[in-house]
Amino acid sequence: MSDCIFCKIVAGAIPSRKVYEDEHLYAFHDIQPAAPVHILIIPKAHVASLADCNQSHADDLGRLLLSAPKIAKELGLDDGFRTIINTGKGGGQEVFHIHAHVLGGAKLRPLVDSVASA
Ligand code: AMP
Ligand code: ZN
Repeated sequence: MSDCIFCKIVAGAIPSRKVYEDEHLYAFHDIQPAAPVHILIIPKAHVASLADCNQSHADDLGRLLLSAPKIAKELGLDDGFRTIINTGKGGGQEVFHIHAHVLGGAKLRPLVDSVASA
């Protein structure tokens, strides 16, 4: 088994609060939510980050992004949501299995404010 925490979540070796699963994707609640609704969407196939993706990952990346509005709608985020992909340590990435954050359920601060405060 890979040491990757998100691969372990996909395999069921670490528990998660699943919100969506299909052949290629897995989505679950973030353990430390930064908004009333905070979901992580991941491809089941491990790739460390967006910077490690190439043409062979295009289908998974497309599926991941296209799943975000569907999952957001199912979770009642009718007013909109924010999608974030942190890339690399300098981009704030802590778990090196690519994931999209989907945040919503409240009026979110403008992103430039939260970046500027770092
Ligand atoms: P990032 O900083 O973009 O790599 O985001 C990693 C996210 O994974 C953080 O928001 C963490 O709260 C979340 N996280 C870490 N471990 C778990 C876990 N076991 N279950 C759910 N979310 C997790
Ligand atoms: Zn992984």
